[in-house]
This record gives sequence, structure tokens and C-alpha cells, in this order.
Amino acid sequence: MIDDRVGATLDGLGRPLGSLRLSVTDRCNMRCRYCMPEDEYLWLPRSSILTFEELTRLTGIFASLGTAKVRLTGGEPLLRHDLHELVARLSGVEGVHDLALTTNGILLRERAAALRAAGLGRVTVSLDTLRPERMAEFARTDRHADVLAGIAAAVATGFESVKVNAVGIRGYNDDEVLPLLAFAREQGVELRFIEYMDVGGATQWSREQVVSQAEILSIISAARGAAEPLPARAAAPAERFRLPDGTVFGVIASTTAPFCRDCDRSRLTADGTWYLCLYATEGINLRDVLRDGASDAELAALIRKTWRSRMDRGAEERLAVPSRGVLYQVETLRADPRREMHTRGG
Ligand code: SAM
Repeated sequence: MIDDRVGATLDGLGRPLGSLRLSVTDRCNMRCRYCMPEDEYLWLPRSSILTFEELTRLTGIFASLGTAKVRLTGGEPLLRHDLHELVARLSGVEGVHDLALTTNGILLRERAAALRAAGLGRVTVSLDTLRPERMAEFARTDRHADVLAGIAAAVATGFESVKVNAVGIRGYNDDEVLPLLAFAREQGVELRFIEYMDVGGATQWSREQVVSQAEILSIISAARGAAEPLPARAAAPAERFRLPDGTVFGVIASTTAPFCRDCDRSRLTADGTWYLCLYATEGINLRDVLRDGASDAELAALIRKTWRSRMDRGAEERLAVPSRGVLYQVETLRADPRREMHTRGG
């Protein structure tokens, strides 16, 4: 089904092929307990990783079908060598109007200027705690100061927007809701709280550890006054709120109030496997089709046909599971590393 807008491709529930998350590497320089808790991982074979040419070509085909938003993610995308060169190529792709990056920020200070110059529009930095010792214990890195420096550098570089994402986990950082909000305001960036999700990699997930949107709003409102909801933006995952002092923040209630009905996102792993949902068990191998010599028109036809049959509502289906526990055990993740959040791209 193609709607009246030029190039818009709709899925089986009428959702456009609007945004693409490109995972550029499955490697990461952090080991967050909610994503990469194990000591060892099975990495994607190097020869399977898409080149910048291949990533750009596929992005162009998605854009021709209506994808206007592209977000680079990983793993840690800044571990991909010369990422600014990919940004330069993608920013030249016709139809891509929003080019963004999600990073843990460790390497951002030294890369921010080159990324901006290459055409990167927006940056989101993940920061769950203001306490270095917590990050060392929870994410196995002592680079907390580098993350803060990365955020400051991104602000100074003048991106269209800089956001900070924080995943709230009971017993880890649930006492940092207000300090994180104050930090974001001081830095001049917008904070978004993300609910802890039972995605692949979160092998220690439990419902009790999820700090819900309702809880976050109640903590903030009790201390800072009523949080007024702001008008929703189409297909945006975060609900945004404004406090009486003007502070704006967002909450992504992906676990307790998922937004599948508006989800226009699909994901491409670094080895070119395309997923229609964060929770999808199977992906479509676009790499082999590409490397076997398919034309742009053939790839576009495959992507369009696949998207039109999309009925995925993974997070809503998880919500309906009565005794919701861990999604995948370690053995299942080892059997297919593309089930991992760090491979699929968060
Ligand atoms: N390395 C980059 C980063 O740290 O932003 C990009 C990849 S990371 C997988 C993307 C986002 O997914 C991060 O904000 C991270 O906090 C989030 N994430 C990972 N596992 C999660 C989980 N179980 N629940 C909620 N968010 C999660």
C-alpha cells in the first residue's frame, strides 16, 4: 500500500517506513549490565560488516521509499573508524532530512567537530549516572569524565540538538532522577528517561527493576511541580513534559506503555540484517542480496514488499505476557548474536 505522499511506503498497520537505525558496529567500549553483562561475546565476522559504500547505497534505497530519518547506533558507533566519512556520505543522500547519532559519549569530545562538519545534525548521549563509581561498577568503565566532556563538547559544537538518555533501574540509579534532570538543565540539553526493557542482552531483567514513567513523573512532580504534557510529535518515542520553571524532559515508556502503533522504525545490523521490530526474532539478510548483485530497483522491491507485510507490535505483545521475565537466556543469544541489543542497535 503506497499512500498519497510521494515515496511513502506503509506497513500492514498503516505505519510508514519513516526511520532507519543503522548499527555500524556490534563492538562496544562499555559493558552495561542491562545490555552486555557477559564476559565474552560472539562478534559478527569482520568480512560481513557492511562497508560505507554499502551502507550509503542501502540508505539511499530506504530514502527512496520514504525514510527521512537515519540514526547511527551500535554497539558504540564511535568505535567505527572514520565515522565522519560515513556521515558525510549519508548527509548527501537525497531524502534523508534528519541524521542523528546515539553514543555513550566516551569518544565524543575528539570526534564532535568532525561529525558536525560532515553533516551530523543531532546527537544523543547515554548517561545513566552522575557518579563515576556507579558507572565503573555497573558499566565496567572508568571513563565517566570523558562522557561528561563529550556532552559538553557536543553542546559547544552547535549540533541542532543534544539529548541525554538515562535508563532508570531500581537499586542502581533510581535515586538520580532529580540530579540527572538538574545536570541536563545546567548543560542546556534535554533529558529523556528510558524504561528498562527486556530486550536481548538484558539477561538480568525483572519487572521490579523497571522505573516506570508513572514513577518518574511522580518523583519529578513532587519536587519540581506539575509536569505539563507537551503535544505529541508524530512517531516520536518520547512523551515530553514541561515543568513550571521551563525545564523540558521526555520519558520513553517502552516497557509500561509501548508505542508500537506509531512505530516507524526499522533496524539494520552492521552485517546488513534488517529487523522490522526491536523484538523481532528473525531479520532479512539484505547483505547477501546486495553482494549477490541485486540492482537498486530489486532491493527496493524487496524492502517495499517486506515492509508492506509488517504487522509487528513486539513491545505491546511483551506487555501482554502475564508473568513477564527475561526475553532470552544467554544460550539463545549465543546461538544468534543478532538478538543482542548491542548488535541490533538500541
Ligand atoms: N553505545 C551507544 C549508546 O550507549 O548510546 C548506542 C547503542 S546502545 C544499545 C543504545 C541505547 O540503548 C542506550 O541509550 C542504552 O542505554 C539503551 N539500552 C540498552 N539496553 C537497554 C535496556 N535493556 N533497556 C533500555 N534501554 C537499553
